[in-house]
Amino acid sequence: MKAKKAKKAQSTAAPLLLYGATQLVTMRGGNVARRSAAMRDVGLIEDGAVLISGGKIVAVGTTDELHKDAWLKQNKRRVEEIDCSGLVLIPGFVDSHTHTVFTAPRLIDFEKRIAGASYEEIAEAGGGIRSSIAGVRGAPESGLAALALDAFDRMMEHGTTTIEAKSGYGLSVDAELKSLRAIKLAASEFAGTIVPTLLGAHVPPPEFRERPDEYVKIICEEMIPKAARGKLARFVDVFCERGAFTLKQTERIFEAATEHKMRIRAHIGQLSETKLASLLRFQPVSLDHLDFVGDADVRQLAKSEVVATLVPGANYFLATEAYAPARKLIDAGVAVALATDFNPGSSPMLSMPFALSLACTQMKMSPAEALAASTINGAASLALADRKGSIEVGKDADIALFELDDYREIAYWFGDNRCVGVVVNGVPLDDDVA
Ligand SMILES: [Zn+2]
Repeated sequence: MKAKKAKKAQSTAAPLLLYGATQLVTMRGGNVARRSAAMRDVGLIEDGAVLISGGKIVAVGTTDELHKDAWLKQNKRRVEEIDCSGLVLIPGFVDSHTHTVFTAPRLIDFEKRIAGASYEEIAEAGGGIRSSIAGVRGAPESGLAALALDAFDRMMEHGTTTIEAKSGYGLSVDAELKSLRAIKLAASEFAGTIVPTLLGAHVPPPEFRERPDEYVKIICEEMIPKAARGKLARFVDVFCERGAFTLKQTERIFEAATEHKMRIRAHIGQLSETKLASLLRFQPVSLDHLDFVGDADVRQLAKSEVVATLVPGANYFLATEAYAPARKLIDAGVAVALATDFNPGSSPMLSMPFALSLACTQMKMSPAEALAASTINGAASLALADRKGSIEVGKDADIALFELDDYREIAYWFGDNRCVGVVVNGVPLDDDVA
């Protein structure tokens, strides 16, 4: 991957023709999240081709169809061409839930958990999210940015081209804003698209442990206004759970976010069920985890525009008994997305293909459903479905190339990385492919 080189090259990118793809997975179907049966229609084209100009997709079809394209015939000389035979092309993955700003893995927690301690017991003993705070508070912005950029580049090596990145390990006004500035700095060096989220409400920090409402006040009256004014975050997120923030506190934070015209999302139902009704009136773009969700709430979600973002990497790493009820959600008509939840405590996983594998084997999603969930529905969960998540005319030319014969193999060969390159904003990022 030559991400930095490509970042510079974007402004001068030549029109590009990808042709001869063994399979082209378009995920066509418009700028909306896919639900129910529509999640199983990946819009497959064999011997597929994509024509790209100005960073946008301008034509999609079979290689034969595109070779007849009048514009292409006229401009043939200045179009760069890539032979994609032996490759499966898909929309670049949209990883819509990551915690990328942290300084160190949590290896003591890892060993404790292997020895039998629970997530909550580890948090009680001073491990968990709180143990990452000192590292982030003490680190310079540039150092945090370098670590975030390294993670973004590794994600891209697995086919991810759009990444949501949360703050949430600083947990003070200064450290949260520093984390967001670090995301912005890393994003400026990254070839793909980064969507920043303020997660000041991850857990109350140790100094506010006995008076969490005071911390909520700081989030609402300082953190959110400052992040909004500096245009440092598109979303505000809250971890609504026992040991983190109550439903009432979550509502207060959502009110402040709405006042400052920021969109909202929440971690909910990871360890216990929370009734969703009072949160749904804020029209969150996405509710994430949902391992515990009641049947009535599933029906409400199906009627709403809210995307349910499932993060099976956390279930895998914490070895939970159950995963989120993906089948129930999809069959009810909920728009389901998949993400890595990349973070040092519960999901140190950068790979979307591995998330797809977990979705298929552990949550009984079909490979097609998993692909819809990790492309167009991930885009919908970031309010980006008009630009990202499918290979359709007018959309950003973000495409991942896999050395495979069949798209179902992406979820099948778990633990291996078959992504051989990406095209980002119309620019191919791997010389081996180009
Ligand atoms: Zn998370």
